[in-house]
Amino acid sequence: MAYVFDAPPHPSLAVQGTDKRFPVRRIFCVGRNYEAHAREMGNDPDREPPFFFTKPADAACDTPCVLPYPPLTNDLHHEIELVIAIGKGGANIAASDVTDHIWGASVGIDLTRRDLQSEAKKNRRPWDWGKAFDLSAPIAPIKPVAEITTLTQGRIWLAVNGEVRQDGDISDLIWPVADHIAFLSQSITLAAGDIVMTGTPAGVGAVGEGDVITGGVDGIATIQVTIGPRA
Ligand code: MN
Repeated sequence: MAYVFDAPPHPSLAVQGTDKRFPVRRIFCVGRNYEAHAREMGNDPDREPPFFFTKPADAACDTPCVLPYPPLTNDLHHEIELVIAIGKGGANIAASDVTDHIWGASVGIDLTRRDLQSEAKKNRRPWDWGKAFDLSAPIAPIKPVAEITTLTQGRIWLAVNGEVRQDGDISDLIWPVADHIAFLSQSITLAAGDIVMTGTPAGVGAVGEGDVITGGVDGIATIQVTIGPRA
């Protein structure tokens, strides 16, 4: 089989403790999955079914890194998130079986052009231009699940230039990992290589050129992203 031009490189992410890389297939993101963040965005925190949006696979990028300040926005926001890496696909997965489908976990930042997302919400348009831009999913090296003690509790935090802005615990997820991945698998057939960004705790805010973002999920990974000049 021949392509009409060279196929682009397959998107992938670094893995802790090895030179082998995790091939990224799709990136699914959960919206409003911490009560305090739902409130800060002006939404009713009562438990509604989880909802999802996506980013292109090649939005994923290794960290630490320097990312250009993206175009079209004056309100680039950080959202620190627990990241789940799927190693085995399936549809209609029971919550009690989700662990069998997880290859590993990490921490990532759901970078958001908040002004474009707000405009999309107001006009009932898709969120893509706010969420799915180039390099919008920096993710730390993935930790294999066998080396992870728990995916149900642990501090999740983010700081900008050393000042802590987001500080939560993954035990506060409205829809825990097993539940929202089971739910996701009812809508689409999950496949090996899929990435799930599981939602952000309260404290989202803007970053600008030259800011250094650090963050982590205790026991899983830490991340560092520097915002460079405008692209
Ligand atoms: Mn998010």
